[in-house]
Order: sequence, then structure tokens, then C-alpha cells
Amino acid sequence: MESHAAPVGGPVCACCTEPAVIYQPVNKRHLCGTHIVCDVEARVASTIREAGQIRAGDRIAVGLSGGKDSTALLVILSRLLPSWPGAGLVAITVDEGIAGYRAETIRAAETLTGRLGVEHRIVSFCDLIGDDLDTLLAGREAQACTICGILRKKALTDAARAAGATAIATGHNLDDEAQSVLMNALRGDLPRLIRNTGTGRSAAFLPRIKPLAAIPEKEIAVYLFVQGLFSMLPECPYTNYALRAGIRTMLAGFENLHPGTMQHLVGSKKTIERYCAGTPVMGHLHRCRECGDPCSGDLCQVCRLRHSLGK
Ligand code: SF4
Ligand code: ZN
Repeated sequence: MESHAAPVGGPVCACCTEPAVIYQPVNKRHLCGTHIVCDVEARVASTIREAGQIRAGDRIAVGLSGGKDSTALLVILSRLLPSWPGAGLVAITVDEGIAGYRAETIRAAETLTGRLGVEHRIVSFCDLIGDDLDTLLAGREAQACTICGILRKKALTDAARAAGATAIATGHNLDDEAQSVLMNALRGDLPRLIRNTGTGRSAAFLPRIKPLAAIPEKEIAVYLFVQGLFSMLPECPYTNYALRAGIRTMLAGFENLHPGTMQHLVGSKKTIERYCAGTPVMGHLHRCRECGDPCSGDLCQVCRLRHSLGK
């Protein structure tokens, strides 16, 4: 990874006299290693508090891929946890079965949970559907992320329920959220754009929370790096099949030229949600006729996928 250390005589932190390690263009300020750590943790704490994402006594299932976002999420939640008396964490890693990629990230997840003393469970696509992702994708590589995303969500939800969790936390950051808004807008999929949040508490759904949703990806990398927690891990070999890959490059370019672009995109999603609250576009809750999971139609995505894969 490139060094984030400031050159001698370079900018100093806006909060102390230490050399800066990062510039936040939206706030127009430099921060040192100590203060970027405090700043990231304070913003995550405020996201959680403002949205009421965690309550005393909650058992939070953290989706832990072993990559940087979920690593930062678990570190931050384990530090913030004493704020909610009786709350606990369980980390869940989904092993999709991707050769040359997943084994190393699972090792990283095991090392981290061991160091933090957090219970760790690993569930696999083989357990869920009888095959690993590589086998399921033979000849369908272009659909990799769609198939993987549907099965991963199901595996994580089932594992979280089995672990007695009251909510699922995922490491989606600001860049991920902005990319999702743009992707759904480009697909013309308004219902999905506003339906995917699932932060409310209802009997049918385990609430899904995204405590890092206001933090840019770059700040998460620096947050880990300055604490010696950043490791270079392999990239999923299917990444380049994703529409997201192109959107990611394009949005990063816009953000560079026009700081705040990603925040504005995520903000526009919230505005649309407010306008659409209680309207038919939000969809009504049904039960899948085969598995009984909550869904928006007759069959859930997982059962539809099982049919198309002949499973
Ligand atoms: Fe799954 Fe796509 Fe992510 Fe790879 S890049 S882990 S296939 S969603
Ligand atoms: Zn179903």
C-alpha cells in the first residue's frame, strides 16, 4: 500500500501539532493518525445512535469477510460495545467457495476474532445449496455477483438467526452505498433503490445495520493502516464481471473532482425514501410459497435461484 505519512514540513493535523496522514476534502481539513481514528469512531458511534441501530441487550451478528471494511467494523463495534449494557457480538464469515481468494480472508477473520475475543462462526455455500460458488458459476461467470449476493445474504441471515442475533451489521461504507444508489438508478430499479435498507425492526426481518455507511473507503483504509491492522489480501476473481466495478471507478473520479458527490447521492436516496414512505412502490410483505421467507413476490430470490440452477 502507498504510504500515507506526510512529508517533513507537510501539513499538520487540524486537532493537534502532529503531522497529518490524511486530508478530508469535504471538511477541508488534515488529520493525524490519532485523530483520524477518533474521528472515524465518533462518526460511527453517531450513525448508530442517530438511527437507533443498537440497543442494550442486543446480540449483533457482524458479517466478517476478513476484508478491510468488515475488519474495521468489528474493531469499532468491539470498542463501542460497552455503550450498550448487555450487548454482545458474534462474527459470521460466509465461505462462498472461491478458489485462490476466500481461504486467506478466512484466516484473517480467524486471527482478528481470536485477538478481539469475539465468537466466530463460518458458514458455507456448500452447506446452504450443496455446491461452492466456483462450481455453481461454471458458464455463468457474468452473473457471479448477483448469484453470490443472493446466497450470501441468505447464508448470513440464517447463521445470524441460528446464533440468536437480534440484528445483522455489515461493513458497507459510503462508497458502497453511493455505488448502489447509482447502480439501481442506472437499472431503472426505483423499488430496489429504496427497499434495500431494512433498518426497521419487525418480526419478519432481522434488522440489517450499516454503521460505516457515512465513512469513505479511503478513511477506513487509513483507520486500519495507522493502527497496524491493514493487510493486503487477494481480490475476488469475479470482481471485474460486476457492473459495480465500472461504477466504482467512475464515482471515484467524480468524488476527486467534486468532493461530496457520494454524500449527495446517498442523501438523495434518503429524500426519495421519505417521499415514497407508505406508497405502493415500497412494496408489500409476502411470504415465499416454498420456504416461507419474507419477500416481495410469490417466490423469494433464493428459491427462484434454486430453480434456475436446478437445485
Ligand atoms: Fe461475490 Fe462478486 Fe463479491 Fe466476488 S466480487 S465475493 S463474486 S459479490
Ligand atoms: Zn423462498
